[in-house]
Amino acid sequence: MTSAEISCSVCLLVLEEHTEAYCNACGQAYHLNQRSDIPGADCGEVWISEDHLALEFACNNCLRPPEPLATILDSAEAAALAGTTEAALVAAASSGALRHRRTSSGVYLFERGDIIAFAKGQQ
Ligand SMILES: [Zn+2]
Ligand SMILES: [Zn+2]
Repeated sequence: MTSAEISCSVCLLVLEEHTEAYCNACGQAYHLNQRSDIPGADCGEVWISEDHLALEFACNNCLRPPEPLATILDSAEAAALAGTTEAALVAAASSGALRHRRTSSGVYLFERGDIIAFAKGQQ
């Protein structure tokens, strides 16, 4: 059994040891560079709670919830987010494996959260 790589719930890229953090709100992993001597992206924040004097972690998904419309993706946007092809997403949607809405003009629409869950399931 190989140890699975953990990917960031915000940008979906793989986390390195020094950038691994867990959001206190949603429990998902995200990028938080904990080394000032190594470059790394931050996909969330950490601060000291005044109530508990403990470190609190929050990912950007929870700190900055997307605008309602930004959670709806067309198949091209969804494919880019999931790192797959539009055809693969449409196939998954058609087979019932992926929640979607098909517009009267035949455009497939997806919700961001469903696509992130789908991408994780594919790994
Ligand atoms: Zn990230
Ligand atoms: Zn979170």
